[in-house]
Amino acid sequence: MSTDFSRNAQLFERAQASIPGGVNSPVRAFRAVGGTPRFIARADGAYMWDAEGRQYIDYIGSWGPMILGHGHPAVLEAVLRAARDGFSFGAPTEREVELAEEIIRHVPSIEQVRLVSSGTEAAMSAIRLARGATGRSKLIKFEGCYHGHADALLVKAGSGLATFGHPTSAGVPPEVVQHTLVLRYNDIEQLEAAFATHGADLACVMIEPIAGNMNFVRASVPFVKRLRELCDQHGALLVFDEVMTGFRVALGSAQSVYARALPGFQPDLSVFGKVIGGGMPLAAFGTTRKIMQNLAPLGPVYQAGTLSGNPVATACGLATLREIAKPGFYEALGASTRSLVQGLQQAADEAGVPFASDCEGGMFGFFFGPRLPQNYDEVMATDKERFNRFFHAMLDRGVYLAPALYEAGFVSSAHTAQDIAATVQAAREALRAA
Ligand code: PMP
Repeated sequence: MSTDFSRNAQLFERAQASIPGGVNSPVRAFRAVGGTPRFIARADGAYMWDAEGRQYIDYIGSWGPMILGHGHPAVLEAVLRAARDGFSFGAPTEREVELAEEIIRHVPSIEQVRLVSSGTEAAMSAIRLARGATGRSKLIKFEGCYHGHADALLVKAGSGLATFGHPTSAGVPPEVVQHTLVLRYNDIEQLEAAFATHGADLACVMIEPIAGNMNFVRASVPFVKRLRELCDQHGALLVFDEVMTGFRVALGSAQSVYARALPGFQPDLSVFGKVIGGGMPLAAFGTTRKIMQNLAPLGPVYQAGTLSGNPVATACGLATLREIAKPGFYEALGASTRSLVQGLQQAADEAGVPFASDCEGGMFGFFFGPRLPQNYDEVMATDKERFNRFFHAMLDRGVYLAPALYEAGFVSSAHTAQDIAATVQAAREALRAA
């Protein structure tokens, strides 16, 4: 029995009776940081209010989608109008076509997309398509990258890295992950060794180009360059999982960030979610027309969905994409995010706390350690206890950061300079306290 009789604690207790762990997605339970999860009653702009009426500056943004903040008027209007016309038809609509065209317009590597309802579905379908198109079975993923909870992707490294992995979840038979090779992020040597051994059998390599599921770790430019070369040499498809980075780090997504350093660079397949749905269940995967022709009803790779391209979700996504495509949007978002990260860094430096931070567009990360980690092991070697104390000290001061050190943070266009300044001031106090 909890001794905390607050409304959040009461709700959490009640939730645990009817929902396993009291939550519908594990990280919401605050297991990593301890304490009572906040039950959110409503949100507006950059703020959320919990069941006790306490206000927070929101740096989770529903784990990425809320790039315009909560309840943006143009998005809200589009959603309400769409809802009045019907929730779901199970038949094609003009708006799906518009959303597909909008995604294609901003991401040159994509000629066609298919819409689905979650990032998990999109990543799972992209893998099936890559396998179907190449006629090969094996795939590479990297330690610390998350691609949703499809069986073949719930894998951690085996006894040594570069061996076939072990399931990270009960209920995933070892045979199901026997084709999934898990490598260390940013390790070129290991990548070369894996291609030398398995290159001819590899359907694809899936990567988060800027990993947001081990806080914030960039794939280095030389690593991405080598990855592209090796995939080309061996006929494997390079899949960028941009569920988090897509339309978040730049209008052209993370692939456009790498194309700045590597002219002409493109992945083969891309996976999107989060921002393209603006907070509604919507995700997508896309690639060239030629590869996409393998999908049903045209080709032999089966993929489908009752709510795929849902009319209310597509209205939400389309209105969001139209807002973020306006001139100057990413310049302003990037400037806000940089000022937050610089402010946090300065506060930590003043407090003499080892701290490293990075950001791109509206996505950021920070670590309690002297330098930016390059892979999962290095992330896990940063100071977790200090992160947990800092998280709670910030939450007590009305700043809602992700409740685990291995998650990225998100700034929206609704965050004002004042919000950022208040956050940095809270961090000064929190760093002294923590
Ligand atoms: N890929 C990445 C990079 C993600 O960050 C996530 C979710 N955080 C997913 C896939 C899975 O998306 P969803 O939770 O919508 O299934």
